[in-house]
Amino acid sequence: MAKSSVISGFYKLPPKERLAIIRDFAGLTEDEVRLLENTGSLPIDLADHMVENVIGVFPEPMGVAGNFQINGKDYLIPMATEEPSVIAAASYAAKMVRDGGGFHTSSTAPVMIGQIQVVKIKDAETAKKQVLDAKVDILKKANDQDPVLNSFGGGAKDLDARVIETSLGEMLIVHLYVDCRDAMGANAVNTMCEAVAPFISQLTGGQVYLRIISNLAVKRLAKAQCIVPKEAIGGQSVVEGIVYASVFAAADPYRAATHNKGIMNGIAAVLLATGNDHRAIEAGAHAYAALNKAYTSLSNWTINSNGDLVGEMELPMAVGLIGGAVKTHPIARIAMKILGVKSANEFGEVLAAVGLAQNLAALRALSGEGIQRGHMSLHARNIAITAGAKGEQIEAVAELMVSERLVRVDRAKEILEELNKK
Ligand code: NAD
Repeated sequence: MAKSSVISGFYKLPPKERLAIIRDFAGLTEDEVRLLENTGSLPIDLADHMVENVIGVFPEPMGVAGNFQINGKDYLIPMATEEPSVIAAASYAAKMVRDGGGFHTSSTAPVMIGQIQVVKIKDAETAKKQVLDAKVDILKKANDQDPVLNSFGGGAKDLDARVIETSLGEMLIVHLYVDCRDAMGANAVNTMCEAVAPFISQLTGGQVYLRIISNLAVKRLAKAQCIVPKEAIGGQSVVEGIVYASVFAAADPYRAATHNKGIMNGIAAVLLATGNDHRAIEAGAHAYAALNKAYTSLSNWTINSNGDLVGEMELPMAVGLIGGAVKTHPIARIAMKILGVKSANEFGEVLAAVGLAQNLAALRALSGEGIQRGHMSLHARNIAITAGAKGEQIEAVAELMVSERLVRVDRAKEILEELNKK
């Protein structure tokens, strides 16, 4: 009989009973079940409160990037990632930037946008005026929802309304501007949007459907800049190569996608380590890169009059020090302690610097020897493990494959067989 993925009451079961069902469904071995049961520093009860249908946890390596100096302060950067080379590259780039005085960063106030979609309105421009005229009342209703946020100086500060053309006719889109202080703010903003929606519907006579935060956080931006002395990066031709790579990404969306992916390698790893919503930042970053219609690069590299490399980047940065999993995940709390940031703004600026560092390391390798050589030694270790190498064998198999420039599982298995014969 075919197996069914419909499991009645699955969500109500304790994790252990869910795991027993999954074991039978997938034919998991006792060893595999034990691995899932071993949740380490994220206790199963806590994991079970964080998301639904929990059967275990998924561990990832967490490392720390060094050498970062941002606005004169030193930071160690916790990063969780499955991708080899990311942490080493960030540390390497931060060291080159350090030689040029470190990163300099800034940010706007932590203002998020909440959207309220009003449809089926007779006259969109009249509805827009009705909303704008009721601004004080709408903001008050929004702020009544979150006295805690207000007590920290945050809350709904302003609103705007736009009429947009869609294939189903005109719609009025109300934007609520909410200062989220040290929270990412999605829950706070969504609650406010839902609270003011009936009033907006009553004012305009329209029907409200969506009431949710926008991840295109154009009012919550972080900016990082740096100068890399030409001697620190390997001379004039490397500087030129990076500038050519930068204008390539600016002009070509195929390249910009990969350029920006490299930036997010660093940012997403810090977000993961700190329990922040990396999808929110990824979505915001890519939407921001396409804000002027054509998708382009988030960073820009130029040469100054000294012949040194100058880099800068600005992107939306909706991160929090509280809320979401930041305070509940025990490792995220430790990561935050290592990072030592005092506000969401400072955190966002550090992330912008990490993204710029990651970008610098990638462009330096790409415009020079290519990234494969650096990638290969770590990649080779993964391949060695896949082939069954353990302990000291891992390094031995990896080294030989790299020296032969033949990093493949079949070769790793052959080398292992040879080693086992000895
Ligand atoms: P939250 O609601 O857990 O915490 C925010 C609240 O904490 C504030 O509303 C405030 O009442 C309180 N607070 C205490 N001290 C504060 C301080 N110093 N500064 C600001 N607020 C303070 O979390 P959140 O940040 O509103 O929402 C984040 C979560 O929402 C994330 O888990 C995210 O994944 C999720 N989410 C995201 C989206 C999206 O990005 N589209 C949509 C829905 C949910």
